[in-house]
Amino acid sequence: MLISPGLCGVCRHAKANTTKRGTIYLRCTRAGWDNRLVRYPRLPVLHCVGFEAGEPSPEDD
Ligand code: SF4
Repeated sequence: MLISPGLCGVCRHAKANTTKRGTIYLRCTRAGWDNRLVRYPRLPVLHCVGFEAGEPSPEDD
């Protein structure tokens, strides 16, 4: 990842999605049910009410 993701880089709700062109998007899965958050946060995220430490997971699709 070229841009430091900040908290999202160590948050269990983050999913990294790579397009066919090689662009990496970081998607916040928590935004699906927590309307305080946005699905594609602007990086780096320095403060987040939904942050929970854990391993971000790669996304296959
Ligand atoms: S909950 Fe916050 S820190 Fe975690 S992935 Fe979503 S935006 Fe990033």
